[in-house]
Amino acid sequence: MLVVMKAQATQEEIQAVCDHIEFLGYRPHPMPGAQRTAIGITGNQGEVDRGNLEEMSGVAEVIRVSKAYKLASRDVKEEDTIIRFPGTDATIGGRNLAIIGGPCSIESREQAFAIAEQIAASGAQFFRGGAYKPRTSPYAFQGLGVEALKIMAEIRDKFGLRIVTEAIDNETLDLVAKWADVVQIGARNMQNFSLLKHAGRLRIPILLKRGISATLEEFLMAAEYIMSEGNYEVILCERGVRTFVDHSRNTLDLTIVPAIQKVSHLPILVDPSHGTGKRDKVLPLARAAVAVGADGVMIEVHNQPEKALSDGPQSIYPDQFARMMDELQQLAPIVHRDLPRGIHVEAGAANQQRDQSR
Ligand code: PEP
Ligand code: MN
Repeated sequence: MLVVMKAQATQEEIQAVCDHIEFLGYRPHPMPGAQRTAIGITGNQGEVDRGNLEEMSGVAEVIRVSKAYKLASRDVKEEDTIIRFPGTDATIGGRNLAIIGGPCSIESREQAFAIAEQIAASGAQFFRGGAYKPRTSPYAFQGLGVEALKIMAEIRDKFGLRIVTEAIDNETLDLVAKWADVVQIGARNMQNFSLLKHAGRLRIPILLKRGISATLEEFLMAAEYIMSEGNYEVILCERGVRTFVDHSRNTLDLTIVPAIQKVSHLPILVDPSHGTGKRDKVLPLARAAVAVGADGVMIEVHNQPEKALSDGPQSIYPDQFARMMDELQQLAPIVHRDLPRGIHVEAGAANQQRDQSR
């Protein structure tokens, strides 16, 4: 159920409707839009008892949302969601493309800094690196943990890059949220419902990767888990699904980009590194991702991929990353986008760890 407020509704009227929804035993989710605020209602098992919602002052109409996902849907919020990073000009969603580059795993301070320096020089705004790695084998490198988080915080201080890193379980989530600017939830965890709910109680953007066999609806329902707890800053990421093909690690499903954009206001990125598993396919698919309308790409980059402790074969070299940036910048205007080069961080506000009480 969705309460659509009139364009001229006041804050007090919006608050009164939220209070009434709580009084009815449900949870209100006010979503301000360009024209008007809509208030999503969750927590109901069946039909919401409309009570006298329709008669309340400032209410335009009360409508049923027919889709299984509600807060993620365009019914509740028509305009694209744009995620902002306080004290910087970086955004995810909207006109500017977001480019995230960095190694699969943080392996050492030297490795991470060498790569970050080149990512920053190429003009990307976001740096990725795994501190906790979900590996198929328990014997494979599992990540440096807190040490890696500290290295990435230093990288943010030095280069201004915003940090994207994965939390693999409930134990690591709060810690990762304390150090990162965006918390990644990986493909294997896309339906880890307790992790999703926990992420929903934080106030930090969550980058949610599509599960290896998830349908569009399952993907958006996973986002809905996070949003239903009050965290509306969800970034979707297509990273390839498992099919019969053996020429690439996964099949990058670019058709999901416009399919998602039709029904959801959430930003969607594409990860052609895990999507293909092969270095020589990353640039072509990154170009395709931008051409198809993705809000940006996430790319694995390594200065010595032959020595990488994880995902070396799909990691591109820093000079290839620089070339990709140039190509995507040229491509961007054709699809009505811009690719900003470099990140501006306000003095003073600079490089604080994210304020969780925000
Ligand atoms: C990653 O980004 O390094 C990763 C493990 O991704 P995914 O969850 O998509 O496999
Ligand atoms: Mn990886």
